[in-house]
This record gives sequence, structure tokens and C-alpha cells, in this order.
Amino acid sequence: MKTMRAMQVLKAKGNFELRELPIPEPASGQVRIKVQACGICHSDMFVKEGLFPGIEYPRTPGHEIIGSIDAIGPEVTRWKPDDRVGVGWHGGHCFTCNNCRHGDFITCDHEKIAGLTFDGGYAEYMVVGQEALAMAPRQLNALEAAPLMCAGVTTFNALRNSGARWGDLVAIAGIGGLGHLGVQYARKMGFRTVAISNSASKRDLAAHLGAHVYIDASKTSAAQELIKLGGARVILATAPNAKSAAALVNGLGVHGQLVLVGVSGDPMEFTSLQLIAQNKTVLGWPSGDGMDSQETLEFSALTGVTAMVERFALEKANEAYARMLSNQVRFRAVLAIG
Ligand SMILES: [Zn+2]
Ligand SMILES: [Zn+2]
Repeated sequence: MKTMRAMQVLKAKGNFELRELPIPEPASGQVRIKVQACGICHSDMFVKEGLFPGIEYPRTPGHEIIGSIDAIGPEVTRWKPDDRVGVGWHGGHCFTCNNCRHGDFITCDHEKIAGLTFDGGYAEYMVVGQEALAMAPRQLNALEAAPLMCAGVTTFNALRNSGARWGDLVAIAGIGGLGHLGVQYARKMGFRTVAISNSASKRDLAAHLGAHVYIDASKTSAAQELIKLGGARVILATAPNAKSAAALVNGLGVHGQLVLVGVSGDPMEFTSLQLIAQNKTVLGWPSGDGMDSQETLEFSALTGVTAMVERFALEKANEAYARMLSNQVRFRAVLAIG
């Protein structure tokens, strides 16, 4: 039997352990991917720490996958071996629940999640349903493209589905794994782009990423600065910090939207009064489906948006994860696998 290397979580709160496993066979409607690169995401914590209900162990994490199709199962017609593909958080849908019947696959009642409800990309091979795939442009470097499958599609999709139009004031709060992509997308989409972070040291980086304006929120109120600029049409809150996100509500202009993509379990505090008079909205945005991811990759290739990454060997997943968790990584840790 042919085997492959995978970094698995054997039980909740365990480390990633290197294992030799049988190379999986694609079932009907599935493809097998030879993984080239897999990004490490803050959400991999759900698997490692057992924070998501119903996870079955052992489990191979990883939902920021770029690779090539290596084998196809029965009933796969759209995809063929050697196709270059990506897989993100959204790992499949049922086609029959009411949300799927509306074509809203990301909110499927039976959503499959790569690296969480089935084995993901911390491995040399994985199998996945064809409905979850994104075609990946050949010119994209696998290591730089992998984080686009989660951090990229999340920020790209949230921005393009917001109410902002060309020239509108759009602020990206936080310049980390999500935010460094959000700033690039906002600029390339034609928004008047503001980057907000908590230190003077990010000013040059923000300009390099394309921000027209930088706000150092450690020195000044970001909300007040945004109002001086006319008030934001959209603020994309990328940092997992409920308090700092809530403080941005007062930086919104008329019909402004605070779009939350940084995941936090903490309550947010603001009053209805802050929202009602100027018709403001606070909303969340869940990444996107396979087609959204494909369009993220295509837009990135077209406009030159790239993730800034640090490369790790598959066996170094524990070190890479620790570096991500302690906020040291600039800006996404990626496993170079194949
Ligand atoms: Zn993710
Ligand atoms: Zn469904």
C-alpha cells in the first residue's frame, strides 16, 4: 500500500503529529489533490484545541490548500488530472437544503469544512468533493496563493459584497494575516483606502500595500480620524478583538457598514443610538464558496495581490502554528509540501 506523510491532531489539545497514512482514494464526485502548499490559519485552533462541536479524531487540519488534481473519482466530469486547484474553508455542500436551493452554498445547513469535518491539507494528498474546488491560475506561486484560499477570499468577498463603490472611503482595521490582504484588495478595487493599526511601525508597510492613509490607533482615535476624512462607507474589522472593533462604529459615515471578519468569542458593546440616526450596519461575513475562491485567485493574479508568507516544512507544523499564534509570523505561515 502506498502511504503519505500527514501532520495530524490525534486528540483535542494535542500537538500535530507526523504520521504515515494510506493515500486516500477519491469516492464518487471527489478528486484527489497532490498538495503543494497549505497555509496555517488561526481557525486551525478549532481542530487543535477541540473547540468545534463534533470533531472526530485523528484529524488532519488545513483549509488553505493549493495543489494539482492527481486522480478523479467516478462522476467527476468538470475536473481532470493535472488541473491546478485550491480548496478553502468551505469544503462542500449538500445541494438540497433551503440555503443551497437558493444557491447560497456558504450557509449550507450541512456544510463540509476542509481540515475539520474531513481531512485537510497538512498532508501530501487529500480528497475533496468537486463542488468545493477553485481553479488556480498557473502563474500564482503555490506558497503565496495558499492563504488566498482563506484570508484572501474572506477579505476579497467581504469587500466586493459590501455597499462600497469606487472612490468610497474604505478602512481596513488591523494589518495582519487578513488585513495585509484586505488593504491590497481595497486599493485594487478602487476604494480610497485607509489602513488602521496599533503602532507607528506599520506606516511604511501600509503605504507599500497601497493604503492612501494610515491611522496609528495607539496615538489617536481611529473613529475620529475616519470622521475627519468624511466617515467610512465600509470598515473591515480583521483583528479578533471585539472591543477595538466596537470602537470603530463611530467612524462610519451615513449608511456605513462595519464588516466583521476577525473571529472573536467576546461580546461587542455599542448602542442602537450609534446606528439608527445614520442608518449604519454591523454585519459579519463568512469567507466564500469554491467559485468565490476562484475569483479571488483570478483577481489576485490580474492585479498582483500576493500574500506575504513564511515557509515551513510539513514536519514543522507545530513551530509554524506557535509562531502564528504568538502573532510573530509576517503575515501567514505556509507549509511547503509538494
Ligand atoms: Zn482560515
Ligand atoms: Zn445545503
